[in-house]
Amino acid sequence: MSEQIEVVRFPMQIGGKAHNPCGGEWIGSLNPATEEVWAMIPRAGAEDAEMAAAAAHEALRGAWAKLTPTQRGALMFRLADLLERDAELLAQLDARDNGKPISELRKQYAYLPQHWRYFGGLVDKLEAQVIPVDRNGVFNFTRHEPVGVVLAITPWNSPLVIASWKIAPALAAGCTTIVKPSEHASISTLHFAKLVAEAGFPAGVVNVVTGYGHEVGEALVAHAKVAKVSFTGGEAGGRAVSTLAAKHLKPTVMELGGKSPVIVFDDADLDRAVSTVAAGIFSSSGQSCVAGSRLLLQAGIYDEFLRRLIDRARAIVVGDPLSAETAMGPITTRAQFETIQSHLFDAHEQGAICAFKGDRSSSFPTGGLFLPPHIFTGVTPLMRVWREEVFGPVLAVMRFETEAEAVAIANDSPFGLAAGLWTRDLDRALRLHKELEAGTVWINSYRGVSSMTPLGGFKRSGFGRENGQEAVREFLQTKSVWMEYQ
Ligand code: NAD
Repeated sequence: MSEQIEVVRFPMQIGGKAHNPCGGEWIGSLNPATEEVWAMIPRAGAEDAEMAAAAAHEALRGAWAKLTPTQRGALMFRLADLLERDAELLAQLDARDNGKPISELRKQYAYLPQHWRYFGGLVDKLEAQVIPVDRNGVFNFTRHEPVGVVLAITPWNSPLVIASWKIAPALAAGCTTIVKPSEHASISTLHFAKLVAEAGFPAGVVNVVTGYGHEVGEALVAHAKVAKVSFTGGEAGGRAVSTLAAKHLKPTVMELGGKSPVIVFDDADLDRAVSTVAAGIFSSSGQSCVAGSRLLLQAGIYDEFLRRLIDRARAIVVGDPLSAETAMGPITTRAQFETIQSHLFDAHEQGAICAFKGDRSSSFPTGGLFLPPHIFTGVTPLMRVWREEVFGPVLAVMRFETEAEAVAIANDSPFGLAAGLWTRDLDRALRLHKELEAGTVWINSYRGVSSMTPLGGFKRSGFGRENGQEAVREFLQTKSVWMEYQ
């Protein structure tokens, strides 16, 4: 660590107030472009978890419940305005904290206020039913009530966007929340908590607690006042959280990893497909849950597509995340950097051919966790690079002949987060989107996400949905009310 760096401490936000860790310990947050500590976050423990759960629980039945749905929606609109005001600051914070390129972050943060407005607009539209039950003299109706305190556990790749996918629908449902961001990228979520207070939300509605998953994360998952856990992250963390939650009979939403296939048929619009396939795997340096990491090319276009894709990948500028020209920044953590290296090593060992390996921008200083784009051909179905999520800028390519073969190869995976399909044949598109085992299918596009449509996994990519009206339903429970009259 350089001694010249001025390291800022970012406190947590619990019960509407800035809160330093009860144990007095802090964690250094590394800038992956330099591997130097640039900020400090609290290392929270069980005592901090207790305070956050108490604050969220008090607000649930207290100040938050006393507001009308329309008033709660108005607070969410005010928060959206503040997110708009601070969009550039948030982008700058994430670029230093997780190394995502500023150009990509600016787009994410330009959209985030709209996400909050969408869910703010839903708050007072959650209508229930009157049910004509099969008895005389009975009036029966349902109510949608909040499940309670929601714990949101988020990863490092898009910290505040993913936190918002959880908190906004939870608040729309009338829940209160505790967010436990990744220990590798907590800063934007800590700044967000200050905006929540500035917007005028009652104390305790949104609490942000930082630290390690196996410490404060587990204390929160097990806490009796936490009613539901919404987790996004890797399979090991997801398994640990869902096992612990099950022990306490607590429901979860799990958004896990993927190994998403992109199928390109001979009749595809190659210009669009090439640039979209490249962005689908190399954006965020491949650290995207929906990264299109398995490319299936039909035999007729295989050579041409690969040639064009390599040209495209060669043009990618890898470098300083704060430069507007950068398309690929560093890998966020050293552990992930080393995991990717082990995937590259195994790909070579198992006989895959490295058809392309990119280079980083020469203008960027040495050091940092940079990795260029890689494209592997000669891949077979049992190779690790084809089966496992790399979560890095590594694309594995396979050739296929027929439609049925493509679908079989695409579905032969434990994951089912997303899939892409490139064809000009409408019949084929309508036939195949049903065949693909994935929570999202993009036809002649890739990586489009909207607040308004559900996102989530099939198979081992998870369960439950974020975004769209389904996301609000995750945080509601239905009460059936019976009244008898004479
Ligand atoms: P991770 O699982 O290491 O960590 C995610 C979060 O879980 C962190 O906040 C971490 O502290 C916490 N955590 C870990 N173990 C825990 C435990 N035992 N108890 C409580 N909390 C615990 O994931 P990551 O490395 O930060 O993110 C990368 C992974 O996330 C990839 O696999 C990626 O595919 C996945 N991801 C999925 C989606 C999606 O929507 N499906 C989106 C983004 C990322």
